[in-house]
Amino acid sequence: MCRHKRLLGTPSDVAPILWQHGALARLKKGEPIDKLLFNGYSTISLGYAGLYECVKYMTGKSHTDPEAKPFALEVMNYMNAACRKWKAETNIDFSLYGTPLESTTYKFAKCLQKRFGIIEGITDKGYITNSYHVHVTEKIDAFSKLRFEAEFQALSPGGAISYVEVPDMQNNIEAVLQVMKFIYLNIIYAELNTKSDYCQVCGWDGEINIVEEDGKLIWKCPNCGNTDQSTMNVARRTCGYIGTQYWNQGRTQEIKERVLHL
Ligand SMILES: [Zn+2]
Repeated sequence: MCRHKRLLGTPSDVAPILWQHGALARLKKGEPIDKLLFNGYSTISLGYAGLYECVKYMTGKSHTDPEAKPFALEVMNYMNAACRKWKAETNIDFSLYGTPLESTTYKFAKCLQKRFGIIEGITDKGYITNSYHVHVTEKIDAFSKLRFEAEFQALSPGGAISYVEVPDMQNNIEAVLQVMKFIYLNIIYAELNTKSDYCQVCGWDGEINIVEEDGKLIWKCPNCGNTDQSTMNVARRTCGYIGTQYWNQGRTQEIKERVLHL
């Protein structure tokens, strides 16, 4: 709401291509953008993360467990209902967003630990699970994961992304196409995560590993032992975007613990 209020009164002249020449609208010169902030033209997102941890704490089970799933869906429906209520009150399109969380995962995890202490399987990691995702350590095959998560994507109209972790698939293009076809038919937005690393010291182009040294997670070339981040290229999907800039300790732990789905 702070941002919404900050934008009120902004003249279209601040970005003519966007507001005057049709990229977003065709307002007159000097005309404020205010009418476009209401009536379903723009949105305010309610971002959520850690559905897994929430359900695990409340029911003792993962949200993929048939006994716990109804509660997970109930939480999602409750948040959507809140958005509808705010929309009715303000005429602003609030919508529920399954947030990628990026580096905030570490901040949230630390805040939860401060508030609730260390609870086994809930707050004992340096990260919390993205949006509605199946926990990264949970063993589940790619197709079951995508089918399960599709239901939660449909309840995240403000935005969502799913992915499956895969090994090097260069010699199994047929399987890649099968997964893509499944994505096309079953889920709104999903991707395959693979590794594309390179060690500039020895030329290794397989996966560069995360290892723990002196209580800190570091990247290490399995071929030559290089641990200098400035002489290696590491690319991982944080959630929505593929990053190459390295991550904080919480996100690095989450990436380390990801299991393969294929
Ligand atoms: Zn190397």
